[in-house]
Amino acid sequence: MSEAKTVAIIGAGPVGLAAAAHVLERGLEPIVLEAGDHVGHAMRAWGHVQLFSPWEYNIDKAAARLLATSGWNSPEPGRYPTGAEMVERYLEPLAAHSALKPHVHWWKNGAESINLLSTGEVAMAYAWNGRVASANKTNNLNLKMELGAGHVSGCQYWAIMKGSKNKDLAIKLIQYAVTAQHQADFVRVISYGPANRDAYALLNDQEKATLPGQHLDKASLQLGKLYLGFWLANGDSLLQRFVKFAAQ
Ligand SMILES: Cc1cc2nc3c(=O)[nH]c(=O)nc-3n(C[C@H](O)[C@H](O)[C@H](O)COP(=O)(O)OP(=O)(O)OC[C@H]3O[C@@H](n4cnc5c(N)ncnc54)[C@H](O)[C@@H]3O)c2cc1C
Repeated sequence: MSEAKTVAIIGAGPVGLAAAAHVLERGLEPIVLEAGDHVGHAMRAWGHVQLFSPWEYNIDKAAARLLATSGWNSPEPGRYPTGAEMVERYLEPLAAHSALKPHVHWWKNGAESINLLSTGEVAMAYAWNGRVASANKTNNLNLKMELGAGHVSGCQYWAIMKGSKNKDLAIKLIQYAVTAQHQADFVRVISYGPANRDAYALLNDQEKATLPGQHLDKASLQLGKLYLGFWLANGDSLLQRFVKFAAQ
């Protein structure tokens, strides 16, 4: 029988963190990989909504046992929390618990998930597709991509700073960079989706296979126009909250 000691858990939501508490109870080491910048990343998206089940059914038993060791102030069992309360009163204290915190890994840089995959430390991870394709090419690996499984990020704009001295040249540079030919060349250097759809016609099937082309339409374009206002309004305060949490 194999002697596995480390258990990879994808996602620091309620299920992932509860699983980590169970893994710890069994004397094994969890490694929780979270793609978002915070625990309960998905629940935060609907933080204002009240749950249909009360606290007593939302708290995992192993998680409660672990939290009890830290003097956690458990919520009233019969009350119905909102998504945000679930994150703040349950998931955050759980992830911040000294027994669990060292096992929750956020991305510090894009290379980290590729390193974990390359060394076989984890079997699955959330990663930039360009880095996966480069690792496969350079290190002769065969990492598979499931582009439809997660969310696809895309950047929809270029910006020239107001008052830039060389505005005309900057516009020319952008025009040069986004031609179909240059975008196809760009894909061959690192396989991120081209900014010009016509570039696809210049790529062969093997090159196209590493690109998220078919998935962009249903993507969560977090850098796109839709979310620009949100990040301008909330980016700084969210970053501060995260830094404070991570420093606990
Ligand atoms: C409006 C609403 C109300 C609900 N009310 C209730 C209720 O009253 N009672 C109840 O029991 N359930 C309720 N649910 C369902 C409940 O929220 C989910 O069952 C629960 O959140 C599932 O937990 P999870 O950890 O599996 O997934 P999630 O909460 O979705 O968390 C998944 C985590 O994994 C991360 N992640 C995703 N992909 C990757 C990846 N590739 N790599 C790394 N990390 C990744 C995400 O960022 C996220 O943090 C409700 C759901 C909604 C939407």
